[in-house]
Amino acid sequence: ITVFVPCDAAALSMGADDVATAIASEAKKRKANVRIVRNGSRGMLYLEPLVEVETPKGRVAYGPVAAKDVVSLFDAGFLEGKSHKLGHGLTEEIPYFKNQERLTFARCGITDPFSLEDYRKYGGYDGLAKALAMKPIDIINEVTTSGLRGRGGAGFPTGIKWKTVHDLASNQKYVACNADEGDSGTFADRMLMEGDPFCLIEGMTIAAVAGGATKGYIYVRSEYPHSVHNLRKAIEIAREANWLGDNIQGSGYSFDLFVRMGAGAYICGEETSMLESIEGKRGLVRYKPPIPAIEGLFGKPTIINNVMSFAAVPIILAKGGEFYKNYGVGRSRGTLAFQLAGNIKRGGLVEKAFGVTTRQLIEDWGGGTHSGRPARAVQVGGPLGAYLPESKFDVPMDYEEFVKIDAMVGHGGLVVFDDTVDMAQQARFAMEFCAIESCGKCTPCRIGSTRGVEVIDKIIADIDREKNVALLEDLCVTMTDGSLCALGGLTPLPVRSALHEFPDDFHKPAPNKF
Ligand code: SF4
Repeated sequence: ITVFVPCDAAALSMGADDVATAIASEAKKRKANVRIVRNGSRGMLYLEPLVEVETPKGRVAYGPVAAKDVVSLFDAGFLEGKSHKLGHGLTEEIPYFKNQERLTFARCGITDPFSLEDYRKYGGYDGLAKALAMKPIDIINEVTTSGLRGRGGAGFPTGIKWKTVHDLASNQKYVACNADEGDSGTFADRMLMEGDPFCLIEGMTIAAVAGGATKGYIYVRSEYPHSVHNLRKAIEIAREANWLGDNIQGSGYSFDLFVRMGAGAYICGEETSMLESIEGKRGLVRYKPPIPAIEGLFGKPTIINNVMSFAAVPIILAKGGEFYKNYGVGRSRGTLAFQLAGNIKRGGLVEKAFGVTTRQLIEDWGGGTHSGRPARAVQVGGPLGAYLPESKFDVPMDYEEFVKIDAMVGHGGLVVFDDTVDMAQQARFAMEFCAIESCGKCTPCRIGSTRGVEVIDKIIADIDREKNVALLEDLCVTMTDGSLCALGGLTPLPVRSALHEFPDDFHKPAPNKF
């Protein structure tokens, strides 16, 4: 009997290792023939550790399971999928899971992350196998047809980026994956790297073949030790099976991949700063032009995408660009892995086509707030995203629709707040975050964010209110127009949205001083 206990960091933090140990020892005691597979997460983080049992009808889910529950699970007959107070029936029938459109995460939580056999069984390497028999330009055309845009936040068309690198002649080209997932409330990259690392490896290899690159780097944040471990192990396995290395599967294409760990700076998630860091330098933002596609890593043409963009590529190649394009709305094609966090009852990952609304995500999947109070605001797209009031919860998730309301979809993270939130403090937090994380290269961001915190404090304390509100608006314009990168350039989004949408909150005294 096969029992699945996730090895994903979210499950581990909730005691998954203890649960696996308890199941193994109880099975031994009862002389039950149990094989424990450490899988990735299914993304229902509110149920972690989610233990699944393979039955003739499919996998049956139990969660959240603690080590102390294991004896009662055995007593209830969970090895035959029988009912228990922690039981949820068939995993794939749980509405949270069933109502998703899983393309990128199709395998996550189903396979053993280190089993190539599992990976192949569920369609893994079908995309690369096809790509190896195609001309690089045809691979790029397929990606362009799919409508895939950068999932890291900027939404730049992936096909155009790849074609720029493809068209350049160079003795060395690179592929670099941005896995510095630093946005608050986001964990999709981590879940994929831990639960289905071959998917990222395959996507990057396809990019390398398309662009003519022979070396790749995955830049992972230091807070993700399990991702680093799983990727390194999976890379070794892929090398041994000749899915990486020289003359991949006899195709004539060669590509090798290395993992680099960051040191905890938010700014290293900015692509040029990341390149500096991979090169062993301090993470400072570079001036553009030249764009990294032309002069990137070590001054060579480089394809840079984030984890979600690369991980979408295998299924695009396997099933075709048209298949992928059929999901989504407007110019936002395909699916996005939305991540529900903050004050939410059912936190987790929801992969859904673009077009779903914030309200559907918060209510239908999230089940409302954890506190049970009304949701008052949601920050979409990380710490640089706008705070949306409840009146905007019905705007569809679509890059262009969000720009129209001065917001951004970003990396798909949603941080929910109930009606006890103080939005003036949230505005202050956004400025303070920028002040702390600024790389210091340009004045509007370095000085502006510090002055911004001071001005917000004055507004909250009702000191020269009108004058200081005008000053804050002016400062936001300067930061937007004059900052070199998105950190300084986008910080005004959350600040202004809080100020405009929740003006009443800006009258209370600030508890702390910056
Ligand atoms: Fe550095 Fe901020 Fe300027 Fe970006 S906007 S380059 S983080 S100082």
